[in-house]
Formats: sequence, C-alpha cells, structure tokens
Amino acid sequence: MPPVTGTVLDAIGNTPLIQVDGIWVKLEFLNPSGSIKARVAAYMIGRAEREGLLRPGDTIVEASSGNTGNALSMVAAVRGYRMIVIMPAGLSSERAAISRAFGAEVRTVGDFHVTEALALARELGARPGHFAPQQFDSEWNVEENRTWLAPEILTQLAEVAPGTVPDAVVGGIGTGGTIIGVGQAFRAANPGCRIVGVEPDESCTIMCGEVGRHLIEGIADGFVPGILARHHQELSELIPVTSAEAVAEMRRLATGHGLFVGPSAGAHLLAARRLRDRNPELATIVTFFCDEGEKYLGDHFALSSGSEPPPARSPRPTQPEAEPKIATSARQAAADPRR
Ligand code: PMP
Repeated sequence: MPPVTGTVLDAIGNTPLIQVDGIWVKLEFLNPSGSIKARVAAYMIGRAEREGLLRPGDTIVEASSGNTGNALSMVAAVRGYRMIVIMPAGLSSERAAISRAFGAEVRTVGDFHVTEALALARELGARPGHFAPQQFDSEWNVEENRTWLAPEILTQLAEVAPGTVPDAVVGGIGTGGTIIGVGQAFRAANPGCRIVGVEPDESCTIMCGEVGRHLIEGIADGFVPGILARHHQELSELIPVTSAEAVAEMRRLATGHGLFVGPSAGAHLLAARRLRDRNPELATIVTFFCDEGEKYLGDHFALSSGSEPPPARSPRPTQPEAEPKIATSARQAAADPRR
C-alpha cells in the first residue's frame, strides 16, 4: 500500500510488466508526469539534495526534448524549486505546455535537436543558486536505471516466470541511461544478455554519423550523449526503425492493444520483434513503453484520420556534435544476423 501521507512522487515506479506480442513490456508511461523520466528526475533531485548541491530556493535547469523537462518540473513543483526547461523548437507543443502547467519556465533554443539547449543549460547551471542535473552526461542516470527500474523488472519476471532472466533488452537512445543502466543489471543476472539500441533510420547518429529530422520524439536528439560515449562498448547492436514504421506501430498499439503510447513505444516493439525474428533463441526480450499518447495528440491523433501517418518532416542533415565512436562496430553488428 502507498503511504497515507506523501506526495505524487511516491507514486513513481512499480509500473506493470506485461507481454505484448510475446515481448515483455514495462509500462513506464503510467508514471506520474506521463513518462519513464519521472524516475530519473526524482532520483537525481533526491541525490542532489542529499549531496548539498541543491538548497531551498534554488533553480533547477535542464535541457530536454520534453519528458525529462516535464518530470523535473513535476519534482520541482513538489519540492519547491524554480524550474527552467530549455527545449528546442519543433517538438510536440504538449510537452512545453505540460512543463508550464507544473509552473516551470520554458525557454526555446535551437531547432528540433537539443544540442544548443544543452549548451545554455550548462551555462545557466553553473550560476550560483542553480543546479543542472545534466541527464545526458550524468552517471546518476545510469545508476537509477540499474538500481531502481531494472530490479523491478527482474523481480516481476521472477514472480510470473520463476527462473527466467532476460536474454535481451531493447530501447531507443535519448540519453542512453535506460538501455545502459538496465542492461548492466540484466547482465549481472544473465551475462549473455544482449543490450540492443534503437535509432530512427532518418537520424542514425550512432550507427552512421547522420543527424536528421524524425518523428520518434525522445530518442536520437542530434548528438552522441556522454553516457553512450562512455558506455558504447556495452551495446551489442543497434536496430534502425523508420519514423513511418514507428508511428504506424504506435497506432496499432492503441487500436489493437488499447495502449495509448508515443512513437518510441512503437519503435521499441518493432525493434524487439525484429530482434526475435532474427534470433528465435532469445526467449525473454524486455522493452519499455516510455511515454503516453496524450503528448502527441496534436501531432498524430486529433487532426488525422488515424489511417495514415502524417508525412515525415523532411530530413535536414547537419553535422553531429561529437564524432560517433562506435559507427563501424555498430553497423557491423546491425548487419550481422548472428548477433
Ligand atoms: N522514449 C521516450 C519517449 C523518451 O522520452 C526517452 C527519453 N528521452 C527515451 C525513449 C529514451 O530514454 P533514455 O534517455 O534513457 O535513453
């Protein structure tokens, strides 16, 4: 039972683990603030408070393509901090509105990718009375996923299917925190567990050094995040999914399974099924449905018939900020059907 006195933060976690098309799916969109990022926001702010990096009256500042901004804004509202979310233009307007609803100030910098927003967040975060959690670089992000999200999944799997350990974990890379942190914990339970990333075909930055516009919001933010640069050797392979495929699968999840989720959920399930098709011996594959469909009403649902995905935004290649370090091995891995 949840505590009688508490806050909405006590409702984070303990999300259901269900099977969809034979893939184990953690329903992270059911967290307060509507996404998986409630966990990392609560974890990083709690940790910063304990370490004296955040004091009453301080301002939290974070660059986010949306969900972390929403989640931190919720935590800031509960804990009494000012919140500045810096996000690029061109993302679903619901995300900015939700952060504002929690009382945050939202600043728009740059276009679609978070690269410029990151620089501003770092600059503001260095000012007195400000704290920037820096989700793309912070090892606390990996730690949260290893010590909170992953053990929950392992416990749930053990309850429903005693003796079962994950053979693979599949997930898109925004910060890389989820896939790396969960992957580390899964490998402690099963050293052979595959850690499989998902990238939009239109913006395969890690696989092929390209940055382009895509519709799978929350992943592939336009650069190789620090977490992935440090941990890339832990990735087994990367699977590309096109925006159109992800959006079509997102729609099927709503109409066919009653799961109203965002495009990354569609991408994750497609990639997980492709992995299993290529490797039928992988009996236990785990993935995440990271955010709720409500955040995409304007982009994908309210104004469209529901039969056709909206046209993909045109690719706009730019240079990645950091030279991808794992391009060759990841490409080989993606092409190698034995992996
Ligand atoms: N899907 C969605 C909808 C997200 O918002 C995020 C986080 N930005 C991810 C997937 C990927 O999570 P991570 O940052 O841990 O790589």
